[in-house]
Amino acid sequence: MNYFVGIDIGSTAIKAALVNEERQLVGLHVADSGSLFHKNAKTALQTLLERYSLQREQVRYLIATGYGRKLFKEADDSISEITANAIGAHEAGKAYGGVRTIINIGGQDSKAIQIDDQGTVINFAMNDKCAAGTGRFLDVAAANLDIDLEALGEYHFNGRAAPLSINSTCTVFAESEIIGLLANGHGKEEIVAGIHYSIAKRTLRLAKRVGIEDRVYFDGGPALNKGLVAALQDELQRELVVPAHPQTTTAFGAAILACNEWLADQAIGEQVT
Ligand code: ADP
Repeated sequence: MNYFVGIDIGSTAIKAALVNEERQLVGLHVADSGSLFHKNAKTALQTLLERYSLQREQVRYLIATGYGRKLFKEADDSISEITANAIGAHEAGKAYGGVRTIINIGGQDSKAIQIDDQGTVINFAMNDKCAAGTGRFLDVAAANLDIDLEALGEYHFNGRAAPLSINSTCTVFAESEIIGLLANGHGKEEIVAGIHYSIAKRTLRLAKRVGIEDRVYFDGGPALNKGLVAALQDELQRELVVPAHPQTTTAFGAAILACNEWLADQAIGEQVT
């Protein structure tokens, strides 16, 4: 069997996806990006291959994507994260009846992408200038509130009062605002819900720039946070498609493309001989 890998070297996390020749997902691995992108990406790839007892030679084609993709010299090719995300969401979205709008919130940016029924990007909008509205905002808020990142979702649903409004448009000012709210005796639950709504409102504005078409696929690490999903559903006034592994959609898309490119090369080779 031939295998293909997509590796998404993000600002915060490295995601690796392994697919087989039938474009079926075989395995996934997520690791911290850290400061040594190249070294950590190599280790992530090795870990994934070891888990499935595969040799590097069995991976016929490897495509890198994401923020640090140019640093990963072992890749056969690289691709923008917008294209990889579109391919991954299109493929994974088939199980939900197809998706046309993608909202991705990453560690340091957020994007809205509109795709056609073949998964080709029609239009996209990106916020990479400001950490508010990204995973970084959630990481900082969780640290300020002394809550595990994974627990934010639970806090969201356990408030006894309405979500508080977080007005700061900058992560640094939001930190002081959160500390101020705690000092005034507000519950962590209402603050967490307020943070989720603040991100959701920003994301809605971004998504409106590309136009929102049914169905909306939500991915990126923060899509693991059920509280944020609920807030975004409220703001968008529609149900979101959240896949089983939202953080790895872009890596999956790069792996699918790696498989497609290799199969296309094989077909050309057969025609020539
Ligand atoms: P990037 O591609 O920019 O590295 P990711 O899509 O990997 O970003 O998302 C990273 C973000 O995902 C982190 O900053 C964090 O806020 C969020 N995240 C990661 N794991 C979890 C989790 N288990 N629960 C909630 N949020 C998470």
